Amino acid sequence: MTAGKLKQINIAGIGSVDVSWNGSTASFDKQYYIKDHLGSVRLAKNLAGTVVSARNYSAFGETIQESVTSGKNKRYRFTGKERDDETNMDYFGARYYDAEVGRWNTVDPLYEKYPGWSPYNYCMNRPYNIIDPDGCGVFITGTSSENVTQELSKKYGLEFRCDPGTGLLSAYDSDGNRINSTDGYSGATEDFLSMIFDTKTEAELACTDKDYEGEIQILVGGIEGSHEIKELGVSWSKNYFNISHSKKAAELASTQFKQNWGTPGNDAAHEIFEAYFVGKNYPNYHHKDPKDPEYQVAHNYALSKTFNNPNLALVYNGFGGGGIRDVTTWVYFTIYR
Ligand SMILES: [Zn+2]
Repeated sequence: MTAGKLKQINIAGIGSVDVSWNGSTASFDKQYYIKDHLGSVRLAKNLAGTVVSARNYSAFGETIQESVTSGKNKRYRFTGKERDDETNMDYFGARYYDAEVGRWNTVDPLYEKYPGWSPYNYCMNRPYNIIDPDGCGVFITGTSSENVTQELSKKYGLEFRCDPGTGLLSAYDSDGNRINSTDGYSGATEDFLSMIFDTKTEAELACTDKDYEGEIQILVGGIEGSHEIKELGVSWSKNYFNISHSKKAAELASTQFKQNWGTPGNDAAHEIFEAYFVGKNYPNYHHKDPKDPEYQVAHNYALSKTFNNPNLALVYNGFGGGGIRDVTTWVYFTIYR
């Protein structure tokens, strides 16, 4: 705004509108952003398709080439974040990033989760294929994280990648472009993607194929609970997942019970939805009993996102209620949560 008059409307992620004034009459010039695989704005085109501004960045986001032929200077740049022209810093919500040195200007508020890294590092020094979407999202951790990520890809027909350093999950479409919003997706896929883009809730799925992880016996899945990181207003919640038990359960279902109880990808997604729901709605909930109302609501929410066949929920409830427990099956179902 200058002298109380609007100059530019930024529609983050899509484009912008330049406003010019002739006395009290405004005219509008719409422009669209063309982005690369990281979501960095490389070109802005006007409605006629003419390039009005172009930028190239170094790996860490420093502007190395720039031409603004017409229209106003655009502020949305590296990984689609807003760059402040006075400080030259990028605004990421929780922190400011300095692309010239490839570091944050303040300590990572979640640094305790990444003890092997400097709290100022940007994307584990791998800026060419990782972005920092405000530092939140879904994390797939543990010894089976790669397998579980592949199973999730199969379930949703997308390509998920799990960062080997932090476990942060990112999604790519069939053309190999990173998905940066839920636009164009619907139903359970949209719901899953929206967890990735939620900047207020982190859901972690700790994955294993062992029967025990320390003292904790891990069956198909199990919820730990959540806590709130007060200074950021972010909450974090964690579930466990045993992929080998999930695979055996699916196998048993089809051979012994002639039922389709879903895939490991489906089961993993269930646990993620559950963790997410608990983190979002019950920060500071700690799981004590499957009868906890918080857990029950989260579990039913997860069922609604991962099982479309109501018979499947009935089968699971049957086991949860202790209807069928034999040597072969009890381990997979009695503590399915
Ligand atoms: Zn559940």
